[in-house]
Amino acid sequence: MDKAGESCKVVLTADRTLMSDYHHNEFVGFGTCAPPNVIPDWLYKFLFFPPIKTNDGVPVAAPYGLRKIEAQLLTEGFNVVTVDPDYLWKYVDEARVLGIHVMDPFGLGPASSTFASILKKEPFLAQYFRMLMEKPEIKRAKKHGLKIIIGGPGVWQFKYRPKFVEEHGIDCIIEGEAEKIIGRIVRNALNNEDLPQYYEVPACETPHLDEIPEIVAPSINNLVEIGRGCCRGCKFCSVTLRPLRWYPYNKILREIEVNMKVGGGACLHAEDVMLYGSKSTIPDDEKLIKLHETVLGKCEGIGWSHCSLAAVASKPKLFSKISEIILAKQSWWGAEVGIETGSAELAKKIMPAKAHPFKPEEWPEVVRMGMGLMHDYKLIPACTLIVGVPEETEDDIIKTIELMDDLKGIRSLIVPLFFVPMGRLKDEDWFKETKMNQLHMELLIKCLKHDFYWIDSLIDLAFKGKWYAKLLRPFYRLFVGVIKYKAKKAGIR
Ligand code: SF4
Repeated sequence: MDKAGESCKVVLTADRTLMSDYHHNEFVGFGTCAPPNVIPDWLYKFLFFPPIKTNDGVPVAAPYGLRKIEAQLLTEGFNVVTVDPDYLWKYVDEARVLGIHVMDPFGLGPASSTFASILKKEPFLAQYFRMLMEKPEIKRAKKHGLKIIIGGPGVWQFKYRPKFVEEHGIDCIIEGEAEKIIGRIVRNALNNEDLPQYYEVPACETPHLDEIPEIVAPSINNLVEIGRGCCRGCKFCSVTLRPLRWYPYNKILREIEVNMKVGGGACLHAEDVMLYGSKSTIPDDEKLIKLHETVLGKCEGIGWSHCSLAAVASKPKLFSKISEIILAKQSWWGAEVGIETGSAELAKKIMPAKAHPFKPEEWPEVVRMGMGLMHDYKLIPACTLIVGVPEETEDDIIKTIELMDDLKGIRSLIVPLFFVPMGRLKDEDWFKETKMNQLHMELLIKCLKHDFYWIDSLIDLAFKGKWYAKLLRPFYRLFVGVIKYKAKKAGIR
């Protein structure tokens, strides 16, 4: 173990939009993607990303990715503390390394860049990241030799902002799963050795299951990973470049126990929760049922981060069984779901395995089936559509518009996102609002109308049974009302 590592402090943090529990509702966190708008900023912050509780500046829960790094550094004997961004002034003077976790630091992610290009303002999450980096206490500590290391899913954006990296004295940016290399990089930082400006974790340094440490302090909204990677290989996605690994039940349960210190249930995180334990794109009935029975035997409720329509559509009976287990404890659950397109032709080109075990040409039907099952069994999906993929034709957009008509009656949110060059399409051009044609506009309006139709009942469901529901609900309703009014004025009826 490194001597310097024992005596020197490593401080970990993230900006305000990430260090929040979003009123215990991950979906509310999507509000951080929007730019300042009709709601005063202070009220918007209170509604969508209120500060998390802290003990002397140490948050009671922190982003899961940051907790993993904290656990890894502790395992390697470093003196590390995770701190709320508003309390950095208390800790950073004594630190020699500051680790910052990022999701969408410049608002270039699909959701925030779509909002920003329509509303022409910097999204909140970019604003708060900039505010974090401009904190006087960080500048002061930098002068005394503080090293800044950045990691998290949003680091790819720094390649588009070299000037920002230079101006803010960012020493090292790590892209990929960092468990096996973070100790070495922090040790080098503490020893004043050279750091790589941009370190892309190669496949050979991606951790195996037994090299991924368990979190030692609670994660925000009780998130626990159940696996990493995805085998579907969509061209526009970077997750797909990582190997598929599923965690054993005991590992998941131990992390749930850590989270239970702050109460609540468990939000299972994987690119496709339905595929837990499976080596292919066909769900494993036994493992998925056991996972849910085990988790719900231990905690109050459950949520999913993501799931695929194909996996749901391929096993309706299994999905109904899982829903029965979940609904014995709660009235609904949510997940992020990728629809991306209603065109079989485009699906074939950009995501040929997304429909698997069905054929890519069956994709629109898979979407209808999967969404129907979700509606019937009370899973509420927050869905994404990709707009402006380089290979998209007018006919593809028409097919997606037609699909939207078929999904009218499905309780869901459907958000169109402008194409962002990532994954195997990372060298392609960005899609900007200036490239939008009449059909794109029609699609955007369809989505807006769909969401307006469902949003009131979703707000009710999201806050059902929460003591603060009465307090918050009118504000969310007001926000939706104002947006509806603006849309009406713009001719969207
Ligand atoms: S978009 Fe989803 S399904 Fe496709 S590769 Fe990425 S994680 Fe897998």
